[in-house]
Amino acid sequence: MRPAWSLPLALVPLLAGCARDTPTPSPGPAAESGEREPVRAPPTRGAAIPFDAARAWADLERTVALGPRHPGSPALTELLDLLEAELTVLGFTTRRETFEAEVPITPSTPEGRLTYTNLIADLPAAEADAPMVLVGGHIDTKFLGADFVGANDGGSSTAVLLELGRGLAASGTREATWRLAFFDGEEAVRRDWLGNDNTYGSRRHAIELCKRGEDRRVGAVVVVDMVADRDLTLTWDDYSTAWVRQIFWEAARAEGLEASVGRPSRGTLVKDDHLPFLDLDLPAVDLIDLDYGGPMRPWWHTSADTLDKCSQESVAKFGRLLTRGLVDLELRVLQNAR
Ligand SMILES: [Zn+2]
Repeated sequence: MRPAWSLPLALVPLLAGCARDTPTPSPGPAAESGEREPVRAPPTRGAAIPFDAARAWADLERTVALGPRHPGSPALTELLDLLEAELTVLGFTTRRETFEAEVPITPSTPEGRLTYTNLIADLPAAEADAPMVLVGGHIDTKFLGADFVGANDGGSSTAVLLELGRGLAASGTREATWRLAFFDGEEAVRRDWLGNDNTYGSRRHAIELCKRGEDRRVGAVVVVDMVADRDLTLTWDDYSTAWVRQIFWEAARAEGLEASVGRPSRGTLVKDDHLPFLDLDLPAVDLIDLDYGGPMRPWWHTSADTLDKCSQESVAKFGRLLTRGLVDLELRVLQNAR
């Protein structure tokens, strides 16, 4: 993630959509869900999504205990295994997107190549052609030495997405298909965010959406990043699609959490995993608290990004506004698809 206050909105890449020479038929959810029960209860429209902050906090502790979770590291592989095992038991259909990418040559990446792995987990709707809500977040931590465990930056998105998965699974069959995308490689390999040295996993998934013809089904994309700051205030990001962002700001108000979302006054543009989806002309929002520890971000990308700078209370607040917003978003996506 990187703030870019000075860029005018016109510099957002042109909304080109997928390049389509020959249409690729979608394998569709039916092909992927062969092991699921063929007959399920009819969906309940707008059913609430439970969110247990204590469980999410325990996931965050477990994630941080793995240590640094660099792309290709044993710790990240262990995390992927844990997530995939749990999501499979919950009824998600999972797959991994593993790919190699050229990266800048640094002391951490002397070969100039890295292997990245996204974990994609789908909870199909009853209808095979139902629209999809995609919720993503990054699981990698930045190459910053053995002391950097990324409790907030990498850890919080991982934990929140997993608990969201439990809530979705517990909320019954839904009218939309839900996809949880655990992105690898959000972080730049170099110290600074330059060119394409960032968002490796989300850029790859955007390409995969096009290849599989799934982009047509995606009604909205929600990216979650750095959401456990003990002083939680989500940043109003001007790259994000206005109507999607508005749903979450209204959800915060409805939950009495106005203090946890920022005012629309700073004109802040945040570069994060939502940009590859905006480039496909998909509605997308980045839910991020950029000001980790305050406007000077004293703990961001330092070894001080540890659990004590985060709080279960913030995770609980974020979980409430996220799940409330997602239920409203699902209804809008279903409406828009008609
Ligand atoms: Zn970061």
